[in-house]
Amino acid sequence: MDKLEGMANVEPVRLGPESKFKFNCHPGVKCFTRCCKDINIILTPCDIIRLKNRVGLSSEEFLALYTEAQILEKTDLPVVMLKLLDTEESDSEGKACPFVRQNGCLVYEDRPTTCRYYPLGVASLSHKEDPAGEEFYFFVHEPHCLGFEEDKGWTISQWRQDQGLDIHDKLNAEWTDLVVRKRSFPPNVKWTEQTKKMFFLISYNIDKFREFVFESSFLQRYKIDDATLEKIKNDEIALLQFGLRWLKWLLFKEGDFKMKTETAGQS
Ligand code: SF4
Ligand code: SF4
Repeated sequence: MDKLEGMANVEPVRLGPESKFKFNCHPGVKCFTRCCKDINIILTPCDIIRLKNRVGLSSEEFLALYTEAQILEKTDLPVVMLKLLDTEESDSEGKACPFVRQNGCLVYEDRPTTCRYYPLGVASLSHKEDPAGEEFYFFVHEPHCLGFEEDKGWTISQWRQDQGLDIHDKLNAEWTDLVVRKRSFPPNVKWTEQTKKMFFLISYNIDKFREFVFESSFLQRYKIDDATLEKIKNDEIALLQFGLRWLKWLLFKEGDFKMKTETAGQS
């Protein structure tokens, strides 16, 4: 899955963790904040949790105000994009990210994964394409971006660490795995509309998924130990990962979910 799917000028170089490049981005560059306009940013589930908490909204309110849903090509899965707006910051270059201001990003500490990766893109191949399951990187070089002319050197690993990508990717790993697997399915193997709706709910609307777990018959149907229950009640990332593991159990019969009755496999 290309996390930067939709962005222009992908350079066809396959980079590894020790590949080197020169880049720097700071308020002194002439293009400062240009990359926050006229862009496509797919939001990961963790991005949404962090951003909606940052701006003090429920997940449903955040989805309505700041995102638009699309079907991801190749996977037939719903994904959520950051909705660009006509704001004071937008100009002839097009609509702008709602969080950009002249002096930078309003939500910098909680900025989306794609913003952290730039100027890199990452690709996770399916098991069929690459049995070792390794990721590789490439440059996404926007013509307006002057950061490549700066004299600061990085390896890919150093960039990942500086941008907090290791922790983000770890938190998003269950979701990325599910999307990559879905992309590997033969085209005639389709998810039902109900499965896609559940994927959307778990991935992007964590408040509603919490209601589903704690206020529907879910807990009457599944054996969930007390420690897990306590954790998912208070930790949205843990709840997200629980939901994705449950979805994988339903789809692939992987993992250790147990029904309370003999109706195993029923969702
Ligand atoms: S266009 Fe490049 S250098 Fe300019 S602000 Fe964006 S990332 Fe930084
Ligand atoms: S979230 Fe921040 S870094 Fe990302 S596009 Fe918006 S303003 Fe730019």
